[in-house]
Amino acid sequence: MTAKSADPATNASKTPDAKTPDAKTPEAKTPDASKTSRATVHGYPRQGQGRELKKAVEGYWKGRVTAEGLRETAARLRRDNRRQLAEAGVHEVPTGDFSLYDHVLDTTVMVGAVPERHRAAVEADPLDGYFAMARGTQDVAPLEMTKWFDTNYHYLVPELGPDTVFAADPAKQAGELSEALAEGHDARPVLVGPVTYLLLAKPAPGVAADFEPLTLLDRLLPVYAEVLADLRAAGARWVQLDEPALAADRGAAELDAAARAYRELGELADRPKLLAASYFDRLGEALPVLAKAPVEGLAMDFTGPAAADLTGLAELARTGGLPGKRLVAGVVDGRNVWINDLRRSLSTLTSLLDLADRVDVAPSCSLLHVPLDAAVERDVDPQIARWLAFARQKTEEVVALAQGLSEGTDGIAGLLDANSGALASRSSAALTRDPAVRARSEAVTDADGRRSLPYAERAPAQRARLDLPPLPTTTIGSFPQTGELRAARADLRAGRLDADGYAERIAAEIRDVVSFQEQAGLDVLVHGEPERNDMVQYFAERLAGYVATQHGWVQSYGTRYVRPPILAGDVSRPAPMTVEWTRYAQSQTGRPVKGMLTGPVTMLAWSFVRDDQPRAETARQVALALRDEVADLEASGTAAIQVDEPALRETLPLRAGRRPEYLAWATEAFRLATGGVRADTQIHTHMCYAEFGDIVSAIADLDADVISLEAARSHMQVADELAAAGYPNEVGPGVYDIHSPRVPDSHEIASLLRKALGAVPAERLWVNPDCGLKTRGWPEVRQALEHMTDAARTVREEIAGRS
Ligand code: GLN
Ligand code: ZN
Repeated sequence: MTAKSADPATNASKTPDAKTPDAKTPEAKTPDASKTSRATVHGYPRQGQGRELKKAVEGYWKGRVTAEGLRETAARLRRDNRRQLAEAGVHEVPTGDFSLYDHVLDTTVMVGAVPERHRAAVEADPLDGYFAMARGTQDVAPLEMTKWFDTNYHYLVPELGPDTVFAADPAKQAGELSEALAEGHDARPVLVGPVTYLLLAKPAPGVAADFEPLTLLDRLLPVYAEVLADLRAAGARWVQLDEPALAADRGAAELDAAARAYRELGELADRPKLLAASYFDRLGEALPVLAKAPVEGLAMDFTGPAAADLTGLAELARTGGLPGKRLVAGVVDGRNVWINDLRRSLSTLTSLLDLADRVDVAPSCSLLHVPLDAAVERDVDPQIARWLAFARQKTEEVVALAQGLSEGTDGIAGLLDANSGALASRSSAALTRDPAVRARSEAVTDADGRRSLPYAERAPAQRARLDLPPLPTTTIGSFPQTGELRAARADLRAGRLDADGYAERIAAEIRDVVSFQEQAGLDVLVHGEPERNDMVQYFAERLAGYVATQHGWVQSYGTRYVRPPILAGDVSRPAPMTVEWTRYAQSQTGRPVKGMLTGPVTMLAWSFVRDDQPRAETARQVALALRDEVADLEASGTAAIQVDEPALRETLPLRAGRRPEYLAWATEAFRLATGGVRADTQIHTHMCYAEFGDIVSAIADLDADVISLEAARSHMQVADELAAAGYPNEVGPGVYDIHSPRVPDSHEIASLLRKALGAVPAERLWVNPDCGLKTRGWPEVRQALEHMTDAARTVREEIAGRS
């Protein structure tokens, strides 16, 4: 890394020469002003304070809002955001970060990579075609959706192939820039960079699976060149190109591609200044690549694991730093909800001053990942409210830091003192320091996380206790969340239904769910989770240490917003959370009813987690609280308990080097939650995805007796992979794809089971759907589960006939 940056050619390429496009801008003529630190953000929440965007888009889909109405709402929300940012003191506002659905889909439109199957729709009506790509239609499947790096935001995956022809469509970017400029803002378009765009893409349907979209780089760059020229013509002085994909582990070919991309874009004659941006993890070996590139600026993340780049920068400093470049320093965490340590950030910023031509201040990434405004929360304890910073507050922090950096700290002395006071109140609060929780966590030993007997000895004891046939059937936990259930919850909240009335509705639902399962012939029953609105929120509401918000909405995908709970303090469980309903369900049947909990890793992954202690410690506290619940379930007679960990894979760190540590605490937390039970109590877990190749050994480390997994769509490949990895315990590879309304017939399920039997011996194979049924309707669920138990019976008979 150092050898490369010591290359004399580096400095040559970095020296701004007279031909750089912006040499004659007013900014360049006033060197003093150009040294002043400016405040900026990479992106802002799109939805509006009242989630107006969601309402407008969904209204449009339902025909209640016209296209014109939707465009007006969108334009107003963008204008409000710009005004909010400018009024807060942000010097340069982002544009193009707004989206009706997803900014990666917007990029697909911008580069003309509309999939073949959507082209007619897009040509007929660009807006409807756009939504068709996002959501599909009766006839055409949508683009696939997946997580944006390790966040809970989902983007639409570009589909590319050797025949992809790109064509520039800068209209959205240029239009939104013009809006901002017309209002007199200094504005900077923010685009997904070409390398990240290609690295996020997958081969289009029908294209060989080993096709690498990155091979399309040479075709894509001219399109970016055209967009850049257009944006310059529209008045852009700077354009930001986001390359978070470079913060993951990248091989030489990928780094070379990045170097080539930014050399070519940098050498364009007709372009705005370029700001290459990265976030979510350290740039590491990609840092010298971008530092060397002939671009005018770098935006870097200096929070969390990305702070490791400070060392990389210090190394670069020995060879000249980032001469002539603008460094946009992301010192305010754009992914959590906590106030910044302003003094610490100022010292980081100050240390960067010598490195670059100018240091500006920003959040680490787009503020898309946090709620809009902490000040509107009325029900949060005022003490905790002092510790919270959502998008608006983070913007204020960035502005204060830029001012402090430019003018010295005198002007922000009051702010700094208030900040120190709030930080001190947080670190000394009873909420964040519960002596009982701390003592218990410190006393944890290795043995607490280990079952009393190994699986091979537990299995016969469990079989005897549960009295199960071979290939036992079960479900993942939830049954359809019907309109009546949601209405009952709304009635309860609105006071139209009292607690007893609500409880009676839930009890009735449980009776129905249990009796259906008995009729359908399932072996291990569930209560159906009718009392749970959300598998994390339900527990967060019952655990001490968690805080709920009223308006803390964050975009998950498209028009779906979630309100993640805030894990603010030490966690404990004041009272049992699930025992009553589980016991009630068990009282309705002679068959075993499986207890159902959300695991510690998932409880963290889908919350905003405290940043004042390592995640490992927070996970351990949650695990101990769940351990109490597991113990109470067991004591009340529950013979099988499932602890769901659907998020285990998704919070895997971007960089492989950080994964062992993560997997160590994640698996320890699971074992701590579950390890205290008797040998004949069966622990289940569930994960809803098929790509877990990189965590197979961690899955084995959980030492759950039974794991159910998504497999229906990958045709039992999961069973093969687990078998190949030597997974020793019981497995239920999903035989019914609940993500689709299609009901599989029993022949199809039976043949999947036969396939699975090729990989997993009958004594260790379970039969189940591949995820919870809460999003499905009763008629299909009824049929599908009957087909499933049918298929299990058929295959059992085949096995019995053979032996
Ligand atoms: N028990 C949960 C359910 O059935 C699990 C959901 C999940 O893993 N996403 O809904
Ligand atoms: Zn699932």
